[in-house]
Amino acid sequence: MRHFFVRALAVVVLLLTGMAAAETPNRVTILYDSFGKNPSLTMDWGFAALVEYGGKRILFDTGNNAKIFEHNVKAVGVDLGNLDFVVMSHRHGDHMGGLAYLLKVNPTVKIYAPKERSGVYGDDQPSSTWYRKDASLPAEQRYYSGAPPEIIHMGEAWPGANFQLIDRNTEIAPGMYLIALVSDRPGTLELHELSLAIRTPDGLVLVVGCSHPGVEHIVQEATAINPHINRTRGTGTLHRRAGVCRLEENIWRPLRVRGRRISS
Ligand SMILES: [Zn+2]
Repeated sequence: MRHFFVRALAVVVLLLTGMAAAETPNRVTILYDSFGKNPSLTMDWGFAALVEYGGKRILFDTGNNAKIFEHNVKAVGVDLGNLDFVVMSHRHGDHMGGLAYLLKVNPTVKIYAPKERSGVYGDDQPSSTWYRKDASLPAEQRYYSGAPPEIIHMGEAWPGANFQLIDRNTEIAPGMYLIALVSDRPGTLELHELSLAIRTPDGLVLVVGCSHPGVEHIVQEATAINPHINRTRGTGTLHRRAGVCRLEENIWRPLRVRGRRISS
């Protein structure tokens, strides 16, 4: 009898879980932008969006200013305490300025961020490759007196935050991928950037920050996830603009409007 109740309870939990997932619409809610028509949002340079898909709630970037980010989050009624994870696209202030507010309301949330040498999100480097060594020098003239730790940790700008550093394309949840690239452009040379790609029945949805590594390179990487993408058309839409697009066989479809369904 006890087993029956345990099994029945498990079924109810599964049903409720399924209902909750089914009730959550697949949508993108813009939280921070210098575009848009929502009068309740304070417009400012920068970008942040809440992506909801397949029952997952993902915050992508945090905008330019923590006070404005807080205002916009409250204005659209988004609960940042209930997130599966966060993606920080890159280290520019107009995308990470609201991190202080996010960490105030959700200090332990998992935050995927680009791994950069001595970057603001922290970094671990093996001491064996970190600097040049000269054993002929006296100990007081050598780093760590000549006996460095195996790993040298570089501090992050937000100590205690749950950063997960990413330096290669990674599937972070079923059908959800981070595309990791490095800019080779003057002005942002060697800046690391993450883009979020979500596989949907209607095509691949791509959420990007500034696309500093070049949108053509981001799309090229996306073709590894969806080889049917034809990247010869429509790739200008995202150039140096944060946003949300769906990639289909031959075309980008911008999906920047708050609350618009991804699958429509
Ligand atoms: Zn940028």
